[in-house]
Parts: sequence; C-alpha cells; structure tokens
Amino acid sequence: MKTMLLLTALASTFTGPPGTRVAPGKTLTVVATTPDLAAVAREIGGDLVTVTALAKPTEDPHFVDAKPSHLVTLNRADVLIEGGAELELGWLPSLLDNARNDKIAAGAPGRVVASQGIKMMEIPTTFDRSKGDVHSLGNPHFMLDPLNVKIIAGEIADHLSQVNPAGAEKFKANLKQFDDKVDQKLVEWQKLLDPFKSAKLVTYHKDFVYLGARFNLDIVENLEPKPGISPSPAHLAQVVTTMRNTGAKVIVVQPYQNRKTAETVARQTNGMVVDLSQQPGAVPNTDTYFALMDHVVKTLATALQEAK
Ligand SMILES: [Zn+2]
Repeated sequence: MKTMLLLTALASTFTGPPGTRVAPGKTLTVVATTPDLAAVAREIGGDLVTVTALAKPTEDPHFVDAKPSHLVTLNRADVLIEGGAELELGWLPSLLDNARNDKIAAGAPGRVVASQGIKMMEIPTTFDRSKGDVHSLGNPHFMLDPLNVKIIAGEIADHLSQVNPAGAEKFKANLKQFDDKVDQKLVEWQKLLDPFKSAKLVTYHKDFVYLGARFNLDIVENLEPKPGISPSPAHLAQVVTTMRNTGAKVIVVQPYQNRKTAETVARQTNGMVVDLSQQPGAVPNTDTYFALMDHVVKTLATALQEAK
C-alpha cells in the first residue's frame, strides 16, 4: 500500500506525455531489463545517460524477481530498453502496468525493443505456453552475436537521439566508436574460436544458439527438453546418448541453472561442466560488453581445448 501511495506521488511528479523531450543538457535516466542491454546503453549514451539494469547478472532473464524498487526505477525512467520477443513476459508487463510512466509506453520514443531489428532464430511452428515453453516468438538470447548487438546499439542511439535531440551528435559518435570496436574485436574472437570449428557442445537452456551460429559451434543438445521446462530423467538419458554418439564433452551452465544436473550428466559421459555467464558483471571484470565477450570466448576456447 505504501508503495502504491509513493508511486502515485511519483507519477504526478515525473510522468509526461508520450514523446516528451528532455531539456538539453539533462542526463537521461535509462533503464534496461538486463545487464547486457544496460552495458550497450552505457557505451552509446556515454556521460549523457545514467543506466540501471532491473535484472541482476545472476538472475534468469525469463524469471526476474519483481520488486517495488523496480516500480520506482521504471517510474523515473526516460528510456526503457527491453530484449523483447517475450523474453521478459513473465515479469515486465505487470511492473509496467504499475509504474505509470507514459514516456516508456509501447511505441513511445522512450521505449526500445531490442528484438525488433533482429533476425530471430528458432521461431516455433507450433507453441503451447501451457506446457511451460518460454520461447514463443523465437529465441530471445541474441546478445552473444556481436553483429546483433551492433543493430541494437543503432536502435538505442536512434531512440536516445529522439528523446534528447541535443545529444544526437554525441550518440552518433559513440555508436561509430562502438561499431568499429565490435568489428575489430569480432576478428579477434573468431580467431580464438577458429581452432574449434564445429566443436560439439551441450547447454542447459537454449541460450547460446546465436553464439554457436556466429562462431561455428555445434550445440548438439540442451539439458532442458524445451526452453523453460526442467530436465526430466528420460530427456537426460537421451542427452547422455547424444553426447556419447557425438563425442560432445562440454556442458555449459549459467549461474542460475542447475549445475548438479549438469554434473550428473558430465559424470556419465566423461564430460566437463563449464560455468559461463552471458550477463556482464556476473563474473568479476566483465562489466562492459567487450569484457563479457572476451570472458565468454576465452572460457569456451579453454574448455574446448581441454576437451579435445
Ligand atoms: Zn530462454
């Protein structure tokens, strides 16, 4: 109740009509649903933005614990960046309903939907939400393909410029710098993973498919039978068989996934469990997108070398 009163007070202070532009020189308050989107927003916004992520780097982006503090953060936002493609379906819509902020309403300049410019992989032909599947509009974990991130960085620059036209030149310059660095680092990352072309991997969730596609890694199985559905003994037996048949040895898990399950499968296949987070900040010194990708690529290359 206290939260709602506070929000009503906040709403009357901060909410403007859709498309409200900020005064020149004002720092934009940018909110991203996940730390990876926040990291890209910091690169593009530079010192003209302050950026907050709603999800912790160690939280599953599909299942974020919604808190009253998130409402306050969303209420004060000039810009909201979401992954989209229903990545945040389980928690963001109800927060937005209660945050009362037209600046970040769907379709407003202050709302960026990252998935909009992305060529989605794994769009399902049939889908049954009641079974617990969470990838209804295709695979929403597209941030590990650096070329996707360039598209999203462009979208962010575009929206920031609409909301703060006085900063447009700066956002454009930051975008150019970001894109150039992605191009340069991509060559480096590809070189590091080149010796492992078509190497076979298993992941817990379908969260590394864009990385696999970009870097020629072959993800042969997932511990979840379908995205969002917990591993069953029958499915895990199938994973073990597939790993034995294909020679896959590396099982990738993120901090919020069930490592014990992965360990059990690894024991039966003489495999190894590799801890890998796709969110900046889950592991020390991975706060920027580039530091994160350095970490992901190097960790994978080391594991695949060991498994050879
Ligand atoms: Zn997912």
